[in-house]
Amino acid sequence: MICDSDLAREFWELGKSDSCPIYDMHGHMGRWQGIYFPRAETEQMIGTMDECGVRLLVFSHHDALLAPDIGNRSAVEAVRKYPDRLRAYCVVNPNYPDRAMADIVTYEQNRDAYVGLKFLPDYHGLPLTHGDYRAAWEFAAEGELLVLTHTWKDSELDGPATIRTVAERYPRVKLLLGHSCHGDWDAAVSLARDFPNIYLELTAVFDDRGVIEKFAGEVGSHRMLFGTDLPWFDPHHAIGVLLSAAISDEDRHNICHRNAETLLEPFLRANMLEEAIHDHETS
Ligand SMILES: [Zn+2]
Repeated sequence: MICDSDLAREFWELGKSDSCPIYDMHGHMGRWQGIYFPRAETEQMIGTMDECGVRLLVFSHHDALLAPDIGNRSAVEAVRKYPDRLRAYCVVNPNYPDRAMADIVTYEQNRDAYVGLKFLPDYHGLPLTHGDYRAAWEFAAEGELLVLTHTWKDSELDGPATIRTVAERYPRVKLLLGHSCHGDWDAAVSLARDFPNIYLELTAVFDDRGVIEKFAGEVGSHRMLFGTDLPWFDPHHAIGVLLSAAISDEDRHNICHRNAETLLEPFLRANMLEEAIHDHETS
């Protein structure tokens, strides 16, 4: 079905919308071994964002995922270069507790660049409940930070049961379920219903028909967040799915920018982006 709502028409005609800026809450950056990404460097990604109407990308740099010695530096540098377009998650690799602790300690100096932490239990091979994650969880809870973690169905590392344990343990963390327990959509729904601090992040969810409607109907669009894993997936694909799903334009505004604006508000004070949000709200 081709949607013909006001918002859809604007996107079909212009490729983006002034009234509906996109906040992509799950991105990466840089080269990746084994896959060729044609537009993975900072400037190229900003180019993609411009084409698709993405106002802000919150990301973790590929360098930080598996190379804790290089760590999060590349992400901080990119944010400082484009402070009105980028924010970063500080990646914590629990396999190197000393290094992870150092990253947490430097979070303070880089507070202008960060909005929270990124966990990748499936890459790092440790469950979110493991003791080597504890310092990071406690740091996030104390600062009421965002934590974006990958979540996959049936995984002992980051599946629904593990998520339930950490959500109970750290109610002050704003917990973004990356990929929404991909494949176990009912589990994602019940987690979001049971814990008001849980958000359903939609990267890769767009590959399955009917899930957007299910989440919006059974949880509500106020708890869904736009995400693409940029540069892995194209924002226009995700936007097209949202425009073609049987949801309202109000839902689309919630998913694309309103929920993110609310979540990010405490982190974006005193910079250009806040002014942009303000202008948008008062116009
Ligand atoms: Zn990711």
